[in-house]
Amino acid sequence: MANQPKRIVAGNWKMNGDISLVKEFKAGLTSVDGVDVVLCPPNVYLGLGGAGGEHALGAQDCSEFKDGAHTGDISVGMLKELGCKYVIVGHSERRQDHNESNELVAAKTKAVIEGGLTPIVCVGEPLEVREAGGVFSFVAAQLVAVIDACGEDFLTKSVVAYEPIWAIGTGKTASPEQAQEVHRFIRDELLKVSDSAESTSILYGGSVKPENAQALFSQPDINGGLIGGASLQLESFSKICHAAG
Ligand code: PEP
Repeated sequence: MANQPKRIVAGNWKMNGDISLVKEFKAGLTSVDGVDVVLCPPNVYLGLGGAGGEHALGAQDCSEFKDGAHTGDISVGMLKELGCKYVIVGHSERRQDHNESNELVAAKTKAVIEGGLTPIVCVGEPLEVREAGGVFSFVAAQLVAVIDACGEDFLTKSVVAYEPIWAIGTGKTASPEQAQEVHRFIRDELLKVSDSAESTSILYGGSVKPENAQALFSQPDINGGLIGGASLQLESFSKICHAAG
């Protein structure tokens, strides 16, 4: 029988926080049995992040290249050297702000896997796509790009995060049933490649708070969360991590 998907809660600070917040989390964030707690602060704080402590470290993005003339970019190897275990790839804000295409996201995902870290690959639709009934085809196209680039490795060495764009930072959470419907669809798409998709972790992201985390995480195909705003406060992030345990 396939292994159960690992339960993971990752906090994406985006371009927020400061050194004192990193220190507060490093001192105060406790482990939760059965849950990989991941902190993704801005890159400049990764060296202070306390890798190997109570939580794992993750980056919010990386280059698709190993090294070279790519001013401002950070390679997977550099992130690994700082103790990172995870890298968020294809967050909707990067797709929007930096015009990241499905193909570029796939190249970055491949680079993370080849570098020995775990990509957290974000997929999810904008509101107009949901309203037009196009959620499944939109998400499928995002998945096909990474599956084409990485093959079965994508299922066994990546984490998927379903983040409907209309729910990110808006306070509008997908209902547990709405989220579960898309998570099931994602798992079924991955199962077309291989049965190992039974153990792929699929996280939900979009206005997760201590008040709604438990209901979301109790859905059969929701294996944890990618948390933005609520990951900036130690108390709320800790409660969300415990809700996944
Ligand atoms: C995110 O940015 O990945 C996210 C889910 O943000 P928030 O929790 O603030 O909606």
